[in-house]
Amino acid sequence: MIGVVSDPVFMNHDTGGYHPESPLRVQYIHTLFYEDAPGVVRVDPVKASIDDVLLNHDRGYIRSVADSCSSDDLVNLDMDTVCSEDSFDTALLAAGSTVKLTEMALNSEIDAGFSFVRPPGHHACRNAAMGFCLFNNIAIAAHKAIQSYGVRKVLIVDFDVHHGNGTQESFYSSSDVLYFSTHQHPFYPGTGSIADLGKGDGLGYTVNCPLRSGQKDGHFIAVYQSILSPIVEAFEPGLILVSAGFDAHASDPIGGMQVSARGFGAIAGLIQDAAREVSAPVVYVLEGGYNLNALKESIACVVDIVKGEAVPEIEALSGPELDAMFETHSRFWPLMHP
Ligand SMILES: [Zn+2]
Repeated sequence: MIGVVSDPVFMNHDTGGYHPESPLRVQYIHTLFYEDAPGVVRVDPVKASIDDVLLNHDRGYIRSVADSCSSDDLVNLDMDTVCSEDSFDTALLAAGSTVKLTEMALNSEIDAGFSFVRPPGHHACRNAAMGFCLFNNIAIAAHKAIQSYGVRKVLIVDFDVHHGNGTQESFYSSSDVLYFSTHQHPFYPGTGSIADLGKGDGLGYTVNCPLRSGQKDGHFIAVYQSILSPIVEAFEPGLILVSAGFDAHASDPIGGMQVSARGFGAIAGLIQDAAREVSAPVVYVLEGGYNLNALKESIACVVDIVKGEAVPEIEALSGPELDAMFETHSRFWPLMHP
């Protein structure tokens, strides 16, 4: 049974008429779940407590977001991050629902979770809203799993086309939470160099896999097969959280990659295989994805794979970027071999 948070309440975060991160995104996704489907249990959204948000953000920042959302007008928190009257409550629901699914997955109430929430989270920093994100939903859930649910090690996998700078920042010095990201590079937000590997105890536990624009399904498959899988085997996480952004889709108006809906399904297949090897539950958390039809189609593929349908066969494509990933990351993860 998979647990899904999908609810029209996430439309309440109003970003104005022309913003790509629009309420329509979750409305489209919700059409996949408003009728009962076999193997799916709908989970009601729940607000995060302020104590849970404090696991990843400072009190002053949380207060400033609440204050910005007290006006009737849209307020810009940064150049492209907007909030409205209901945004603070919606952001608490996004974080809280992700925590709830994580708890359910760890208690074996569900086999896997999908948190189709907005605002997204992976650019949100400790003290700053950024890149359409207010609170870092996935980082809050990772902290909570370690602090309250007895998990020792969490793997965060981020396949959004953008690098999750906020998530990387949260765990840069930690060996308890490994952050793995494939992303277009160079691209917004400018972070995610292969040379950024973590620091102190966290050295080697930030694994950036930058790819130049135009990369196809096969290039992603190669990275997930050859770089992620051996890391999962060696790291043995007790929980895998996935920043599932679908803006690497070929039709996405923001990203510059060539991934197909089937390709996202195949990536999910590799994540599920790796998770099975170490008996870790997986919770997927929505990040980007701005072509509404591509978003819906890609999510349908991923959900089917997680429910147990056959994984699309896509041939891995190597290239110079994969060679660089081997060279850099195998120093920390010797199970990796070209
Ligand atoms: Zn993105």
